[in-house]
Amino acid sequence: MSIIVQKFGGTSVADTKRIMAVAKKAIREYKAGHQVVVTVSAMAGETDRLLNLANEIDPAGAPRERDMLASTGEQVSIALTAMAIEKLGASAISFTGPQIDMRTDDGFTKAKIRSINDAVIRKELDEGKIVVIAGFQGQTDEQEITTLGRGGSDTTAVALAAVLGAERCDIYTDVDGVYSADPRIVPNVKKIPALAYEEMLEMASSGAKVLHTRAVQFAAKYQVPIQVLSSFEDKPGTMIMQEVQEMEDVVVSAITHSMKDAKVTLSKIADKPGMAAAAFQLLADRNINVDLIVQNVGKEGLADISFTVERADLPYIQKLEKELLQLVAAQEILYDPKIAKISAIGVGMKTHAGIAARMFSTLAAKDINILMISTSEIKVSCVIDQDYTELAVRALCEEFGLVDEQVSA
Ligand code: ADP
Ligand code: ASP
Ligand code: MG
Repeated sequence: MSIIVQKFGGTSVADTKRIMAVAKKAIREYKAGHQVVVTVSAMAGETDRLLNLANEIDPAGAPRERDMLASTGEQVSIALTAMAIEKLGASAISFTGPQIDMRTDDGFTKAKIRSINDAVIRKELDEGKIVVIAGFQGQTDEQEITTLGRGGSDTTAVALAAVLGAERCDIYTDVDGVYSADPRIVPNVKKIPALAYEEMLEMASSGAKVLHTRAVQFAAKYQVPIQVLSSFEDKPGTMIMQEVQEMEDVVVSAITHSMKDAKVTLSKIADKPGMAAAAFQLLADRNINVDLIVQNVGKEGLADISFTVERADLPYIQKLEKELLQLVAAQEILYDPKIAKISAIGVGMKTHAGIAARMFSTLAAKDINILMISTSEIKVSCVIDQDYTELAVRALCEEFGLVDEQVSA
């Protein structure tokens, strides 16, 4: 019997009425002859509410305790979902991450999945039950509760689909597919019917929060087809799968933005070997991920290094400030949390030149200053002032033909 994994995000389980609708969707797949595993997120706004409480006490509080707190949201929604399925006449059972031994490393607040024990799930599926599993959470070898990072329920779902050899992983959300930009910012942006894993990976890692980055990594590694679709309307979504030839014909397939980063500058550090290594090793030791890095060679043997980190990590860097300054003999550390990263992505960039130049000219024409740049084989990213995010995304969508013509009434 084939297995389908369905994942429902926060808005899809926002209240009990919506949870009943989720139950109906799970039962529909079950009646179509599949074994069904459902992963749910916390009810809309709940994870934010919990983390705001934590921040009221200490924004740089122990990551272990933040996970202990944040993981509770999903425990509520799995129980309600299982109850809803039973109410509609099918059999269901809910499990937390630790109950199915969703094993992770100990990177609290952004833990990585290491293994899953599928025996418990298979036993229940074989007994004819719909199995409902909490997204976002796991446990370490020492049975400490961890979370997979914001948006991590997608990763739970895809990892489950991989380990169970599922036919497909359906990600139900509040949009009806993946668009060439966030449809909340560009209402007339085009929907993408099918995307290569590689492109979706770049989109997710550069801010398209419709899918969690590690979910796409798992899907690519284990060849799990993902479908992103609406939990509110019955219509085809976007398939994420192996690259097919026609995809390379599109030069730029998406423009993404991320406003969850902050820029940190270590100013006037000694311009000699080992300084960058020392600074970034200290951050890596504290599980702080660094994204873009720029070094300006300064005057008189002094240089500046700027880099971006997640905004949520700023309080932890501020805690390390003295140590960091001493380590690299920097004179000053500056923070700019008001930045946005805008990226143009497309597998077609491998075979077409000049995309970066077109992107820079489009931003220049709108008088938008570029603070940092990075490129990969299929992506160009620019860091700009956060206030210009919408303007930049819209202008780039128009430049690269990613919007539908306005239909006049
Ligand atoms: P869920 O709670 O279901 O996981 P998310 O809020 O995490 O939902 O992700 C869905 C949201 O992702 C959409 O509401 C949309 O605003 C945003 N989004 C950003 N970029 C894109 C994109 N390129 N295509 C579709 N949605 C996008
Ligand atoms: N509830 C978690 C969050 O809000 C996980 C998720 O929704 O995917 O980040
Ligand atoms: Mg999400």
